[in-house]
Amino acid sequence: MVLVRQGFIAAIGALLSVGSVAEPCVTLTGDARQGGLLWGQVDPATEVRFHGRDVPVTPDGSFLLGIGRDAPSQLTLEVVKDSPCQQSVTIGQRDYKIQRIEGVPQRTVTPPQEQLDRIARERVLVRDAKAVRLERPDLLSAVRAGMRWPLLGPITGVYGSQRVYNGTPRSPHYGVDVAAPTGQPVRAPAPGIVTLAEPDLFYSGGTIILDHGYGLSSSFLHLSQVSVAVGQEIAVGDVIGAVGATGRATGPHLDWRMSWFDQRIDPQLLVPSMPSIDKSP
Ligand SMILES: [Zn+2]
Repeated sequence: MVLVRQGFIAAIGALLSVGSVAEPCVTLTGDARQGGLLWGQVDPATEVRFHGRDVPVTPDGSFLLGIGRDAPSQLTLEVVKDSPCQQSVTIGQRDYKIQRIEGVPQRTVTPPQEQLDRIARERVLVRDAKAVRLERPDLLSAVRAGMRWPLLGPITGVYGSQRVYNGTPRSPHYGVDVAAPTGQPVRAPAPGIVTLAEPDLFYSGGTIILDHGYGLSSSFLHLSQVSVAVGQEIAVGDVIGAVGATGRATGPHLDWRMSWFDQRIDPQLLVPSMPSIDKSP
C-alpha cells in the first residue's frame, strides 16, 4: 500500500514537473546575449511585449528584439492574442573590457555655456532622429539576411568596453571602432532611410543615422564627409560618407553603433568576422 502510494505521488510529481516546463509561446532565433538581436514569428495582428516594451510586428507577423549591454539574465516576452502567454528569455551575460586607470589628475574644466547649449541642442537632434518610427518589412528582411562591414580595417574599439578613472566609471563605449585613413569610403551595412545627416556635431563630428525600421538603426560617427541627406533611401553597399576624426576623436576611425529603440546593440555580432589581410572594401 505504501509502495503504491509512493508510486502515485511520484507520478503526480512527474506530471507537475512536465506541466511546469511550459511550451514557449514563440520560438526565438538569433543571438540571446547582451548586445544581440532576436527574431520571432507570430500570427499577424498579435501584440508582443518584451521587457515591458511594445514591440512592433510586421504585417506577416515577424518581429525583432534587441538586448541591451546590461540586460539581466532573464527577460520576459509576452504575447497577447486569443490566449495570452508569457515566457522567460535567458540572456547570455558578457564580460566587457573594463580598464581601470588610477591617479589621473582631476580635470576641472567647466565648458562655457555656449558649448553646453550646443551639446543640448544636438542631443535633441539625435533623439528626434531616433524617434522616427519606420515600418518597412523589406528593410528588416535585408538586415535579417545579413549585414556587411561599412569598411574594413583593424578593430580598435569594441562594444561594451568602459574606462574607470579614479574609481569613477565613464559611460561605456557602444560602438565598434574601425581604424582607417581619413577619406576612406563608408558604406551602408544594410539598407535604410537616413534620419540624421550632420556634418559637425560636438562629440561625434560628421554623423549619419540610418534607420533600418522596426526600432533598429545604425549610427556612423567622426566622418570627414557626409554624402547623404535626411529622407534619402540607401541600398546596402552605397557610399554614405568618408572616415574622419571629426568631433571628439583621437585619430581617424569609424565608430559604428546600433540601437534597437533605447537599447544599444553590438554591431559586431551582426557581421562576419573582420577579414585581417586586405584593407580595400
Ligand atoms: Zn568609438
